[in-house]
Amino acid sequence: MQNLQGEEGLTNGGANAEGALLFYSEFDDPGEWRDVLKSELPSLDFRVYPEVGNPEDVRYVLAWKPFPGFFEPFPNLSLVVNLGAGIDSLAGRADLPDVPIARLSDDGMIALMKSYVLFSVIRYARDIPDFEQAKRLSEWRYIHPRPLHRIKVGVLGLGHLGSAVASALANLGFSVHGWDHVEKSIAGVECHFGEARDDFLSKVEILVNMLPLTTDTKGLIDASVFGALPKGAKFINASRGPVVDEPALVEALRSGQIGGATLDVFWTEPLPADHPFWQMENVLITPHLASITVPETAARDVAENIRRVRNGHEPLHLVNPSRGY
Ligand code: NDP
Repeated sequence: MQNLQGEEGLTNGGANAEGALLFYSEFDDPGEWRDVLKSELPSLDFRVYPEVGNPEDVRYVLAWKPFPGFFEPFPNLSLVVNLGAGIDSLAGRADLPDVPIARLSDDGMIALMKSYVLFSVIRYARDIPDFEQAKRLSEWRYIHPRPLHRIKVGVLGLGHLGSAVASALANLGFSVHGWDHVEKSIAGVECHFGEARDDFLSKVEILVNMLPLTTDTKGLIDASVFGALPKGAKFINASRGPVVDEPALVEALRSGQIGGATLDVFWTEPLPADHPFWQMENVLITPHLASITVPETAARDVAENIRRVRNGHEPLHLVNPSRGY
């Protein structure tokens, strides 16, 4: 084991006493995380899977989509941090350790998600797909712009990301309606909840999905939701593919009930080459990158959580894997 006896280690009884953090991700660069975490916690023993060393040293895991059985070798875990916002890869798993499980929800992630959704909504609000099509036809096509306050945007799911997105849209001047399963209050946003869903949908021209994927939300955005929207409404999915009934969306796009969709997430990723979305002119596809965790900001939360757990406090952004978010 790497023996790091920094200031912190000396204060708290040495690096062995502090334990190690094990990093696991097939997608993220551990170097960036190591640098920020070490600047926050200089004596942190940062290890990158599969260089585990002595499994008994591992107290903290920072992982994205750990494989089944991943946690089993580590008897002294005290904290698991999901390296992202969505915890669907942990939800319902029987192999999770009985320790606090936190996720990431940092300012950098929120800023990126806001940029994705604002771009997507503005693209529809300012008729950009029509101008892209007109350009291909060398056609000067004038469409009289509509004031933003007359354009009703709906946001499903008013959690960290959904509420930030809804606020940002309202600040820009859109008429924003939000919906969640429980009552929420966001300045400038007309919030609806529970049974009021269909009333809310009938007012919405651009619908944004920011719901987490849980057993309750799987397939929640189905033909009845698309049918409740005004004909030709636009749909943006920036959370998780399986929240949407994909065949119902394909059908709604074909019939014109949904006039256009911006999709970042899908049932199967990468989206299979023969999927009908690829051939649909009115569908914009991005490869699951609406937002990411930004190490510079998120690692500070990880460090804070390690401090909290060491001091016997509850970590930030605690999740309940059996609930799914
Ligand atoms: P949060 O957990 O903060 O918010 C989820 C919201 O949905 C909460 O307000 C919650 O209510 C509400 N909710 C939960 N279950 C239901 C339900 N059955 N019906 C209605 N509302 C419900 O998550 P975030 O806002 O941080 O993130 C949302 C999702 O975005 C993530 O789960 C992730 O999947 C996705 N994501 C996608 C990214 C991408 O690149 N495409 C990047 C980052 C995240 P309450 O808390 O009151 O129970």
